[in-house]
Amino acid sequence: MSIAVNLSHIHQQIQQISEQYQRDNVRLLAVSKTKPVEAIQAAIEAGQRAFGENYVQEAVEKIEFFANRPELEWHFIGPLQSNKTKLVAAYFDWIQTVDRLKIAERLNEQRPADKAPLNVLIQINISDEASKSGIEPDEMLPLAQAISQLPNLKLRGLMAIPKPESEPEQQKVAFRKMQLLFNCLQTEFDDIDTLSMGMSDDMQAAIECGSTMVRIGTAIFGARR
Ligand SMILES: *Cc1c(COP(=O)(O)O)cnc(C)c1O
Repeated sequence: MSIAVNLSHIHQQIQQISEQYQRDNVRLLAVSKTKPVEAIQAAIEAGQRAFGENYVQEAVEKIEFFANRPELEWHFIGPLQSNKTKLVAAYFDWIQTVDRLKIAERLNEQRPADKAPLNVLIQINISDEASKSGIEPDEMLPLAQAISQLPNLKLRGLMAIPKPESEPEQQKVAFRKMQLLFNCLQTEFDDIDTLSMGMSDDMQAAIECGSTMVRIGTAIFGARR
């Protein structure tokens, strides 16, 4: 199926789930990692503006390719090593995977002066997987407090990649925990408006639990090799 058809199908699903659960303003992030610029171009022509990428070098090439499209919004959603922060600070509009103050401080120092502050989501290790990135829930407020002091970063909310579960009830266990953390963050800080959770296989459960941004790759662009 074509990318345009897939996108319109996902928009319909988001609309229908949002109505059913009285959610509004759920944004769609198109996850284009490993996909060629032609695929991104097709999504742009279908009206998509926000794209998520996981690998810094691959992403920078794509962002440069689309440098004549300033309306595009690029989100870094992969694990970030400290030797790659400079490129992320220079090229991206958002980073969704901040889980260490050191990374945040480097991004703050390296953000070019002519750019708006870099939008930041704190990644939470919500399924408590030893191997996964993200902070523990009880580390959220101290890290948020420190990030909120950095002038070239703008804290916008939280992101999580829960352990994959096939049953919606199981998927919702982690998403409900994220919803509580997000509510807590909103009471402590201003301008917290983004809860990034939900992928191709758990989008519905995520929106039910208050996601404001779903990150969809496979259902838009097809399977990755
Ligand atoms: C790859 C990826 C996605 C998209 O996953 P799909 O299952 O292809 O929709 C979403 N979020 C992150 C962080 C990813 O790495």
